[in-house]
Amino acid sequence: MAWLSNGNKPAPHRLGPMQTLPQPMRTYPDSEAVDYCVVGVGSAGGVLLQRLARAGFRVVGLEAGPFWDTERDWVSDEKGSHELYWTDLRITGGTHPLALGANNSGKGVGGGSVHWAAFAPRFHPSDFRVYSEDGMGADWPISYWDLKPYYELLEKEIPVAGPAWFPWGDPHGHPYGPHPLGGVGDVLVRGCSRLGIRTVAGGPVAILSASHGDRPHCIYRGFCLQGCKVGAKASTLITHVPDAIDHGAEIRAHSMAARVSVNKDGRADGVLYYDREGKECFQRARAVIVSGYAIETPRLLLNSACPGHPHGLANSSGTLGKYLMAQAGNIIAGRFSELIRMYKAPPAHALTEEFYETDPRHDFARGFAIQTVGPLPIAFAKQMIAAAGAWGWGLRRVMMDYNHWAALGVLGEILPWEDNRVELAEERDQYGLRVAKVTFNLHDNDLKLIEFAKNKVMDVMWAAGAEDVVQESRFAHLVGAARMGSDPAASVVDKFGRTHDISNLFICDGSTLPTQGSANPGLTIQALAARTADYLIRQGDAIFSSSRRDESEPAIRYDLSPPYTQFKGNPRIA
Ligand SMILES: Cc1cc2nc3c(=O)[nH]c(=O)nc-3n(C[C@H](O)[C@H](O)[C@H](O)COP(=O)(O)OP(=O)(O)OC[C@H]3O[C@@H](n4cnc5c(N)ncnc54)[C@H](O)[C@@H]3O)c2cc1C
Ligand code: SF4
Repeated sequence: MAWLSNGNKPAPHRLGPMQTLPQPMRTYPDSEAVDYCVVGVGSAGGVLLQRLARAGFRVVGLEAGPFWDTERDWVSDEKGSHELYWTDLRITGGTHPLALGANNSGKGVGGGSVHWAAFAPRFHPSDFRVYSEDGMGADWPISYWDLKPYYELLEKEIPVAGPAWFPWGDPHGHPYGPHPLGGVGDVLVRGCSRLGIRTVAGGPVAILSASHGDRPHCIYRGFCLQGCKVGAKASTLITHVPDAIDHGAEIRAHSMAARVSVNKDGRADGVLYYDREGKECFQRARAVIVSGYAIETPRLLLNSACPGHPHGLANSSGTLGKYLMAQAGNIIAGRFSELIRMYKAPPAHALTEEFYETDPRHDFARGFAIQTVGPLPIAFAKQMIAAAGAWGWGLRRVMMDYNHWAALGVLGEILPWEDNRVELAEERDQYGLRVAKVTFNLHDNDLKLIEFAKNKVMDVMWAAGAEDVVQESRFAHLVGAARMGSDPAASVVDKFGRTHDISNLFICDGSTLPTQGSANPGLTIQALAARTADYLIRQGDAIFSSSRRDESEPAIRYDLSPPYTQFKGNPRIA
């Protein structure tokens, strides 16, 4: 523990009411070449750093945002949590421009896992074979069965609460028991049941239904998207980063990576970044991993163009930035005569995946899920402005009625299209770096799928007994833009996240997903990160010195999980 100059002990860095950070954190000078420099300490970056540190590698995580002290920095207040998001300038366009900025991706240690709703379903086996099965989209270079052991492991690590029997995809149970049903979940289950649609309730969600190590259980106060000051909702800030630090990782907050550097031998040798004072710094590294999210990862690599890589790093295929995906996230809100009280539960707690797979009776491929969402008043007001044109006195009346409304969400699969992409805009940010320009267009299959899904959720809402139903079109969960694949001419990274072009440069985050299914992507992103870590650990020093690619599957390092992984929830489902 480092002491203050006045002799006092510094206040501990708190991550919830009971959890504190291991201190002091190990630090590395810029001039020392660490083994791995990881850009971005979010959903994927946090898991990756934790495992690499436990395996004994010298690792530094550069994070553009702050290192949250949850007791000091977070408030259980909707407006007060605005700073959790990446609100730096981004340019958006296309036939269906994506809303970027607030409520899109995270900035700060934990990244998007800080403000996610924590819905944690797995992808289905069919998601990995979309092209083979439907003649559209893409196949993954791995199968569901390659990832299944990592799903099972991450479900214990974060951990996931949910039903004893999840009947879709590869049916499975969950390590922690389900949560009680809130008002919106009750609407979803009631409406679906009346239409003969199967549902599950109480999860799967990475929120504690029983205490776990030094984290308390959920107290159902509904501020999950505001970070969860209670510490019941999983984020890598509290699940993986403390263990990474405990094992020698340095997390360098307020450090904005500007460029990945490549030496004359064509190997990545470090990252140029701006520190909290805006000073230009250079962290030397024997290998670099970019984990910056589906927009900032391609942006960084495009901004890293240099002689030998004139169109950006890892872009010899020309696919970097392309095949960006978002899921259709239409919100359907219904008014009920009885009280619903949307805020009194985690937004994520009931769903159906009955429409997930391609149905030959439909005129579109792939499908969608229906999930609970429980917007707090500001988000709800915005939805009612967009969905019902509510304004002035009308908006005030709707808001006075807030406790009578329930909101359900479509989560629909939009296929990967080449023209949906991230490029560099001419505009620059506060560091003088060109910002991302995001183009998004819906295609025929997407439009038909969204129309069907939207109407189905409205049917559910009416069936549940709603007196009034409105809907807002929106999108959720950006992934893709640096897709993995076996063919270096058509993809950016291989099945372990290693770029085809530079053997010691990796990408590990949601940008590597070739397709996205209609499951929320966070669990899959973290499972892939654990798998990439196992690969790197098995390769050992070969990553730093050799260009040879070993494609064999690594052994799963169960011994590298964070503490408490084997703890059992109460009630526990085997
Ligand atoms: C409101 C909301 C609710 C969501 N709910 C769910 C849900 O219920 N379930 C689910 O599965 N998913 C959910 N998501 C999506 C989920 O949060 C993301 O898919 C996931 O966090 C992406 O992980 P990632 O590792 O790709 O990126 P992130 O977790 O966003 O991490 C990227 C990190 O890199 C940092 N970074 C970026 N560029 C740089 C740079 N140049 N230098 C330094 N640092 C940099 C960022 O600050 C960030 O911390 C939700 C998203 C939103 C917006
Ligand atoms: S509802 Fe539960 S998970 Fe969400 S903020 Fe409250 S305590 Fe945290």
